[in-house]
Amino acid sequence: VEISPTSVRAAVVDASGDILAEARRPSRASAEAQVTLEIALEAARTAVETLNSSVQRIQAVGVAAPGRLRAAEGICVSCGDFPSWREVQLAAPFGDAFHLPVSLIGTTQAAALAETRFAAAHGLSNVVLVRVGIEIDLAVIVDGRPLSLGDAPPGHAGHMVIQPGGPRCECGESGCWQALAGREALVARVVRDISSGVSSAIPAAVDNRLGAITPALICRMASAGDAVARSALEETGRFLALGLGNLIALFDPEAIIVDAVPSLVGAALSHAAEAALKTSRRAQVFSRCVLLSPSLGDSAPVLGAAAWAGLRAG
Ligand SMILES: [Zn+2]
Repeated sequence: VEISPTSVRAAVVDASGDILAEARRPSRASAEAQVTLEIALEAARTAVETLNSSVQRIQAVGVAAPGRLRAAEGICVSCGDFPSWREVQLAAPFGDAFHLPVSLIGTTQAAALAETRFAAAHGLSNVVLVRVGIEIDLAVIVDGRPLSLGDAPPGHAGHMVIQPGGPRCECGESGCWQALAGREALVARVVRDISSGVSSAIPAAVDNRLGAITPALICRMASAGDAVARSALEETGRFLALGLGNLIALFDPEAIIVDAVPSLVGAALSHAAEAALKTSRRAQVFSRCVLLSPSLGDSAPVLGAAAWAGLRAG
């Protein structure tokens, strides 16, 4: 089961990561936890019922959820995506409904586990997944299992300081990684250059509404040769590479999966960061680590939740 502020998805998944049956329902960030849980339980029952005769063969339930988790207790402590949630028991309702062991895992960790077991990083056992949005978070897979430290996975990588005195971050600090390499930083560089008079085809593409510029548009314009888009992408890639270099130094992974939505933005940022890493002074140190693109799309969290439940159930 994957619980997100826009949808709830339940799937019956086999050991090789194939989805045998599934159900999706819309959800709302403002909804009380009880309402969202009831939607998720109904979706899970529907997915299981679709399978008919195979019901008794289900071994375990995995739940992927955002926010700060006490995963071993099945609890979501708090969650930016669901502002009203406090100490919500996410696992027990599924245990009561299905009489099966239930494992809770963070959404990004689930995605990393799925990509490692079934897809982009298949066959590797030490992998970092970096999700670049407005925020940057990450999940670390060590020896094939998600790394957790205490209550929460090490997901707040977006707040490591890359440039002291740099742009202000929403956390109050200056120069955080996500303030320099997140999607808003990419857009801000383009707006800065256009506002200072550098020639670009981007204003015409958005009818001069600079607020309508998106990372996807910037990536398309960069491919078409627009100099402002290219330079913003390169600069953002250099800052992304600084953080990735730190992660490589910390975790020495075999691969880093760079994930962003839509995928063309992820691919463009990854490409820009790779170019920067290759020309860095420590390029030799980083050469053992490859940058990959995710390949499971929006199925990754639900597949990872199932994989985690399977791993825990043995
Ligand atoms: Zn910050």
